[in-house]
Amino acid sequence: MSKKPNILLIYTGGTIGMIKDYPSGTLRAFDFNKLVSNIPELSQLECEIESISFKTPIDSSNMNPSYWVLIASIIEQNYEKFDGFVVLQGSDTMSYSSSALSYMLENLSKPVIFTGSQLPIGDLRTDAKENLITSIQIAALQENNQAVVQEVCLYFEYKLYRANRTTKINAEHFQAFTSLNFPALAESGVHLKINQNYLLKNKKGKKLKVHKVMDTNVAIFKLFPGFNRALLQGILNIPGLKALVFETYGAGNAPTDDWLLSDLSEAIKRGLHIVNVTQCSGGSVIMGRYSTSEQLKKLQLINGGDITSEAAITKLMYLLGSGVSHKSFRTIFETSLRGELT
Ligand code: ASP
Repeated sequence: MSKKPNILLIYTGGTIGMIKDYPSGTLRAFDFNKLVSNIPELSQLECEIESISFKTPIDSSNMNPSYWVLIASIIEQNYEKFDGFVVLQGSDTMSYSSSALSYMLENLSKPVIFTGSQLPIGDLRTDAKENLITSIQIAALQENNQAVVQEVCLYFEYKLYRANRTTKINAEHFQAFTSLNFPALAESGVHLKINQNYLLKNKKGKKLKVHKVMDTNVAIFKLFPGFNRALLQGILNIPGLKALVFETYGAGNAPTDDWLLSDLSEAIKRGLHIVNVTQCSGGSVIMGRYSTSEQLKKLQLINGGDITSEAAITKLMYLLGSGVSHKSFRTIFETSLRGELT
């Protein structure tokens, strides 16, 4: 008989790890060492589960690159011992964290599934149990002694997504995430349906490489009708700024004022990397389609294509942290590294 898969749960914080004390109505942190006794359903799963928790669990609004390095290091240290990883964190910044981890974990051949919940695990109407149980099941899926999922994913409300394609779209609904530019990798109904064709596969024999330097000299500027020059200049002139996500309208469009184009052009000449990313949750930048993006094309803004802002900002941190040369920066950014671009 083949051995049961070993799954490591990494609890970073967030609503999922809270339990409601019904007599008093207060929420308190859940003791992950008592996971199986608190959720007896877990013992029904065909896998062994161990868990590890941040010393001080955090609300995901406090997430930052040093915590991403911590998560990456926990995975690195436990990579041989476990067959899959489930990372529990608050949903607010989950798309950022999971996108970041997708870049930091190169040549991944085991599943890393991020999940969380809108209601605490101890709440009567909780969505946490389904999210947690199915995430563990997906992390444990094996075929011919190999993990079925070999990438960083996000599981929420019956859908498994490629993490770096997701955005949090709802603070109320159980369906908190969407992935408008890439189909779900799996759907959980009566059966767990895996869309094999969409899964990334690690080229055999490539060893996991963990990147731990994320450069935070980056910014996002979201266009809005009426933004003034001083605001843009304030951002373009931030000391030490190396790269900017320029969030444009629709298919990558921006106002055609001369001052805007000259400020951008001057910043690019100084060496700032500027990426054109659409502020729409779905669709793609197509520079040159409208006259309002023709100039941006001429200025040679980096084309963000259909990347999300979350995947773009973390990709900038990763590429800058990896010391990619100025010359090859555009080409590498415009190349899909972990399935984040079509
Ligand atoms: N504020 C919480 C967090 O992101 C919400 C959640 O857990 O989903 O940590």
